[in-house]
Amino acid sequence: MRWNQRITIKDLPLYIGQTVTLPGWIQFSRKSSQVRFLGFRDGSGLIQALLIKGETPEEVFGLWSELRQEASVSITGEVAACEQGPLGVEIKVSHIDILGTGGDFPLGRKEHGPDFLHNLRHLWLRSKKQVALFQIRDQVIQAIHEFLWSQSFVKMDSPILTGTVGEDPKGLFKLDYFDLGPAYLAQTGQLYLEASIFAHGRVFCFGPTFRAEKSKTRRHLAEFWMLEAEMAFFDAQDNIDLQEDLIHFILNRVLERCLAPLEVLERDLAPLKRSLEPFVRLDYKEAVKLLAQIGPLLVDGDDLGATHETALGEHFGKPVFVMDYPKAVKAFYMKEHPEEPTRVKCADLIAPEGHGEIIGGSQREEDIDKILARLAEAGLAPETYDWYLDLRRYGSVVHSGFGIGLERLVGWMAGMHHIRECIPFPRMMERLTP
Ligand code: ATP
Repeated sequence: MRWNQRITIKDLPLYIGQTVTLPGWIQFSRKSSQVRFLGFRDGSGLIQALLIKGETPEEVFGLWSELRQEASVSITGEVAACEQGPLGVEIKVSHIDILGTGGDFPLGRKEHGPDFLHNLRHLWLRSKKQVALFQIRDQVIQAIHEFLWSQSFVKMDSPILTGTVGEDPKGLFKLDYFDLGPAYLAQTGQLYLEASIFAHGRVFCFGPTFRAEKSKTRRHLAEFWMLEAEMAFFDAQDNIDLQEDLIHFILNRVLERCLAPLEVLERDLAPLKRSLEPFVRLDYKEAVKLLAQIGPLLVDGDDLGATHETALGEHFGKPVFVMDYPKAVKAFYMKEHPEEPTRVKCADLIAPEGHGEIIGGSQREEDIDKILARLAEAGLAPETYDWYLDLRRYGSVVHSGFGIGLERLVGWMAGMHHIRECIPFPRMMERLTP
C-alpha cells in the first residue's frame, strides 16, 4: 500500500464498524477484571485498544502482560465508537504482532525532576504533554509562514556562519574558519534581510540563532529559533501594526486548532483570549512613570529587566509594546528618534503572565553617517560592515523589521514556565546533550 493510503489513528473515526490493522507504540496499559486497556499511539493520535475476556482470542488476550510501555506493535481490530478521547473511537483488538519489545522504560507515570527528564530528552519527547507541546509549536510555525506568505513576504534564508558581529560582540560563539580567521554563529539574520528588501520588498528568515550569553534564566537558550522579518517602506508604526496582526493571527490559529493539546497542558485559555484585544502601546517614558508607581523602579535611561517586563505584563494582562527606548541600550542600526536624538524608534513586545519580551523590533537608520557614528560608539570596526553600508549608499529607503523568539512565543501560548521545554533538544549553558 502506498504511504499516503495507509490508515492512521487520526483517520479511525471514518472506519467505525470496520476491521483495520495499524502499527504504533504502547503508551500505557491498565486492567480491570474483564478488560485489558492499552494506550496506543502512532504519531497521528492516541486511542484506547481493548482486549476483552471471552471476546478477544485467548492467545491475544494473554499477550497483554508482555506488552510493556513503549513496545512497538501492529494491532488489528474493529473500530468502535466510544465516549472518551478526542477522536471518540477505540479498537477492539483481535490480533497483535509485537514488532519491538518495550523493556524497562525509564519514564513512567510518576513525577520526575527537570534534570532527569532533560537527560532523557530523546525518550521524554514521546510523553503526552511533550507531544501536545510540539503540536502547538508546529501550528505556530505553520501560522507564521501562512501569514507572511499571504502578505507577499519572500523567505530569504540568512547564513549561520558569519564574519560580522550581528549586534553584541559579547554574545558570540566563535570558531575557526579555514584560513580566513574567526567566524561566528549567527546572532541574527537581520543585516542580510536588510540587503534582501531591496530585491523583494518584504522578506523573512526563520532559523536557528545562537547567543553565547551567560544567562541562566527561564527565557534564555544558547540556541533558539528566530523568525525575523524586514520590510521596505515600513516606518515604526507600520512595524508594530504588522507585528500585532501577526501575533493575533497566530493566536487565533492556536485557539482554533490546538484546543486538545492546550487541554492536555492544562492551559488557562482566558488570558490568551484577552490577548486577542488590541495590544497596549506604551512609550518608554510612560513605562518609567508607571513602574515608579507599581514597581519595580526603572531608572530613566536603563534597559528593562525581566522583573520590569513581568510587572508590565501583569499590570495590563495582555501584550504590551514598550516603544522608543534610550539609544544607549539598543543596537547600532536602530533609527534615531527625529525629535529626541537620545532615543531610537524601536519597540519590544512584552507578553503577559511573566513570559517577558517576545519580540524586539525597530525602524532602521537610513543615514550612513549616523550608522558610522553608532558603530564607532559601540566599538565595532566599520570595515567589517562595509557591505552593509552599501545598502545605505544605493537606494536607501525607510524600512523596519523585527525578530520573534519562537520558543518564547510558544512558551507563552502553551503556558510553559521555562522555554527549555519548547525546543526539541535545548542548548543551554549547562546542557549540550542529548
Ligand atoms: P533579552 O533582552 O530578553 O535577552 P534581546 O533584547 O537580546 O532579548 P533580541 O536581540 O531583540 O532580544 O531578539 C529578538 C527576540 O529573540 C527576543 O524578543 C526573544 O523573543 C528572542 N530571544 C533573544 N535572545 C534569546 C535567547 N537567548 N533565548 C531565547 N530567545 C531569545
